[in-house]
Amino acid sequence: MAIPRTSHKTGIGMTSSRTRERMLTRLREQGIQDEVVIAAMAEIPRHIFVDEALSIRAYEDVSLPIGYGQTISQPYIVAKMTQILRNGKPLNKVLEIGTGCGYQTAVLSRVSTDVYSLERIRPLVMKARNHLRTLKCTNVKLDHADGSLGLKDYGPFDAIMVTAAASHVPPELVEQLAVGGRMVIPVGTTDQVLHLIERTAQGIQQTALESVKFVPLLGGTALS
Ligand code: SAH
Repeated sequence: MAIPRTSHKTGIGMTSSRTRERMLTRLREQGIQDEVVIAAMAEIPRHIFVDEALSIRAYEDVSLPIGYGQTISQPYIVAKMTQILRNGKPLNKVLEIGTGCGYQTAVLSRVSTDVYSLERIRPLVMKARNHLRTLKCTNVKLDHADGSLGLKDYGPFDAIMVTAAASHVPPELVEQLAVGGRMVIPVGTTDQVLHLIERTAQGIQQTALESVKFVPLLGGTALS
């Protein structure tokens, strides 16, 4: 008798454990070395965050549409940004700007004590809330808000991750970074570059890392 491989939502082979394992191998080949990040990505099922018709592609290294003109980030960039923030150490209080469907939020929840995440499009907040409930990510607080202003009342944060491209680094976010804290943020419009911002006792240090492609960070909130 054939033993079926683990499969989720769609047919065997589509989102099987072997498909997911291939994603982890690829991440290592792409230079992701933090095994805590790899373990979190092994644990969070990316296919539940996309529409059923797209779940066959959920473990490919591509961004995919999630509705409302937005996307779920490609696995490599989720892993890379999480690895940069962790810097080899456990994360305590983390702020994410741009929840989207909540995939990156779920990965962060597995490597942090507390995660706060802000999303400007209300139906995406609802979608993310459902996904995070399904995965029992109980250490996450989501809010419908313009994240470029941060979340002053809950700061300072040990780490801030912005998952939409900003034309400039919002000063409010830098202010909400704890001493010793790190922020990753894509900066630019057509040509975007991922920046690392570190707050030390001596001041702020900004480093350009690599080219990226994100949807834009927009001001205000939207109901649909
Ligand atoms: N973190 C997601 C990526 C979502 S795409 C993932 O795991 O794949 C980026 C998201 O940022 C979109 O949902 C978009 O609506 C949101 N966004 C853009 N500008 C924003 C702002 N000022 N405040 C909060 N969210 C914002």
